[in-house]
Amino acid sequence: MLLNALLINLALLVAGLFVVSLTYVRVRVAEGWAWVVARYLMAVATGFLLIVNTIPLAPGLLYDFRTVPVALASRRNGWVAGLLVALPLGLYRWLLGGPGKVPACINLVLVALLAGWGRPAFTRAPDTRGVPLYRRWWEALQIFALANITTFAAFTLAGKSVLEAMGVYTLYTLLSTVGMVAGHLVVQTRLSALHSAATLGQLAFTDGLTGALNRRQFDLDLPQAGPASYLLLLDLDHFKRVNDVHGHEAGDRVLAALTGVVRRSVRPSDRVYRLGGEEFAVLLHDCQPDAAPLVAERVRANIQAHLAGLAQVPDSLTVSGGLVPARGTAPLVAADAQLYAAKAAGRNRICSWLGAGEAIPV
Ligand code: GH3
Ligand code: MG
Ligand code: MG
Repeated sequence: MLLNALLINLALLVAGLFVVSLTYVRVRVAEGWAWVVARYLMAVATGFLLIVNTIPLAPGLLYDFRTVPVALASRRNGWVAGLLVALPLGLYRWLLGGPGKVPACINLVLVALLAGWGRPAFTRAPDTRGVPLYRRWWEALQIFALANITTFAAFTLAGKSVLEAMGVYTLYTLLSTVGMVAGHLVVQTRLSALHSAATLGQLAFTDGLTGALNRRQFDLDLPQAGPASYLLLLDLDHFKRVNDVHGHEAGDRVLAALTGVVRRSVRPSDRVYRLGGEEFAVLLHDCQPDAAPLVAERVRANIQAHLAGLAQVPDSLTVSGGLVPARGTAPLVAADAQLYAAKAAGRNRICSWLGAGEAIPV
């Protein structure tokens, strides 16, 4: 009967922690505070749910898995986070009263402190290390084996025997350990999925050779470009010669180095794409009409000055470019027309069309 009630409580714990896990929405980049707060509220709500469905062992002696959300908060975000989850739960438990109330509150605090042992006091970047599962079991067992010693105090205060306390302590410690590992797995499943999605997303939208964004990303970004955005299309001059004279590997080095030079020549908010072969595009955002040609010229000049050296190619390397506003029906076709004009005019130059009207010459 007791075991059955504890298992129901365990099921509620896993369900609550599943919702907690949904508040992890991205990895590798700092989380927004809104999600951190949502996670905190869900952890507290899960604790409340567990206490509401508690198992009264005797009048004033209540057992449930409320300490697990506390332990997980401490483990991932530091003991301050754990104590913050413990606080409202302890308060609620206190109000329920009985001889177990003081040991129960001490138990919550002990769990928060023990689970956060050796971690920063508070961190917004959750601990997402892939720790082997046996280590998780061992960590959880240590936390609860120590913290649950308060069970003996509670049973003594309630006038119960040490033998009875021993049985409940053992069962509760083992089940709390199971609960914490189950909670870890629920959260870790979510984090692994987010990691995979981030990795696949990066692979899908970046070019493997140069690290620039790829054509797929460009096709998504171009229609989103604002009215003050410009499209700069770049094509290496006589690149075929580099491959022919110095080999394909030298050509690859040039392409990779070019991405770096272009990136360093524009603002971090501007995006650099490899559209294919030795053709690159840059979307210049929030750019004044008179600034866009200056930026494009800076890109061209930096390539002429630094690219050959960076790529360890003895020849001089230059690009031709076409610059147009990133709007209208076919900015890429328009930029290509300007690029073609630059090539025809002798290469190593940028041709621009910056007319204010909608009709961009193609
Ligand atoms: P232009 O000045 O008219 O642009 O002449 P170009 O030689 O640069 O242009 P062309 O289109 O004739 O040649 C492009 C070359 O780019 C052909 C191909 O060997 C090379 N290329 C395309 N993709 C890659 C790549 O991934 N790595 C290397 N090393 N070379 C590439
Ligand atoms: Mg070329
Ligand atoms: Mg080309």
